[in-house]
Amino acid sequence: MPVEFSASVARLPDYPVAGGYSLPEDVALLASNESPWGPLPQVIEAAMRAVQRANRYPDPSYWDLRSALSERYGVAPTQIAVGNGSVDILLAFASAVLEPGTELVYAWPSFSVYPHLPAASGATAVTVPLDADHMHDLDAMAAAIGVRTRLVIVCNPNNPTSTALPLDRIAAFVEQVPDHVTVILDEAYCEFSQLDDPDASIELLDRHQNLVLLRTFSKVYGLAAMRVGFALCGSEAFVKALHQVRQPFLVNAAANAAAIEALRHQDAVRDRVVKTLAGRREVEQGLEALGIGFATSQANFAWLQLPAGTAEAGVVAGLQERGVLVRQGAALGQEGALRVTYGTSEQNARFLSALGELIA
Ligand code: PMP
Repeated sequence: MPVEFSASVARLPDYPVAGGYSLPEDVALLASNESPWGPLPQVIEAAMRAVQRANRYPDPSYWDLRSALSERYGVAPTQIAVGNGSVDILLAFASAVLEPGTELVYAWPSFSVYPHLPAASGATAVTVPLDADHMHDLDAMAAAIGVRTRLVIVCNPNNPTSTALPLDRIAAFVEQVPDHVTVILDEAYCEFSQLDDPDASIELLDRHQNLVLLRTFSKVYGLAAMRVGFALCGSEAFVKALHQVRQPFLVNAAANAAAIEALRHQDAVRDRVVKTLAGRREVEQGLEALGIGFATSQANFAWLQLPAGTAEAGVVAGLQERGVLVRQGAALGQEGALRVTYGTSEQNARFLSALGELIA
């Protein structure tokens, strides 16, 4: 007799992992929306110092990190939860808020981890298609909220489509959501948006106890491998509930130290945003020259539409042969699209010239 697994194992989808983990060093890794720039020397030193005390468990309250986040973002430490990447926090919300018989609402295509929340919890997913401009259709999402709804997720800017909605639209939406329904605003890429000050959404927390802003050190802070995410919460109740459903030592000591140090270098954050915006211009101008359409990006990546009749898988393979790794749209919810992270200028140029060869 084979061993018996829980029903959630049968329900849980495989996360669509990008390739690139055992490729030669010079491949342009434009498939995972990471920062092309490595950690600052001070951040590396802080992590190494923490490793020297690796025989000791980290402080399970993560008070130093939460205090440093509090100082930077102006939210009380008691309203801040940290996690092993923001995905850890998302999955913890599945245990803390969802259960069979309840519903969660999110747009599609959106971040590929969201389908794990209904699968893990037994709740029902209500997915709302993006509009023709690849943006969240907030009216349709508001209409999809019903008596069973416990959670709504809005990804702004949206992965994989790179689009974002201005904060006034988001604020009006949150206003419409009943107070007992949790709203997670996934802002993993908010620093790259030109629509609003990335700190502006924090003010919404004063008005909405049911709101959670989900953020990460994996993108603009350039610490994807360290795995640190955080949630700025409208209420302490979220922090307590997340604490209850998770293991005590979530963030390893090296990652904790790296994150605290990274927060001290906001000038580097600004510098990376400026470089990313330059990368956006390079890629968009190159795509325009090739006659390829793309969504209006407010993120560190492009969502482009291949010319009709182009075999998506062939383009992805051809790019890889030319030393460029990107994500295939089909794996992320839309055939005929590609998601391409902006890299260094050299990587962007390599991508554009390889794509030009392949669609010629
Ligand atoms: N949210 C979105 C929208 C993302 O695209 C990602 C990373 N791909 C994350 C959250 C998770 O990032 P991490 O777990 O590294 O914090």
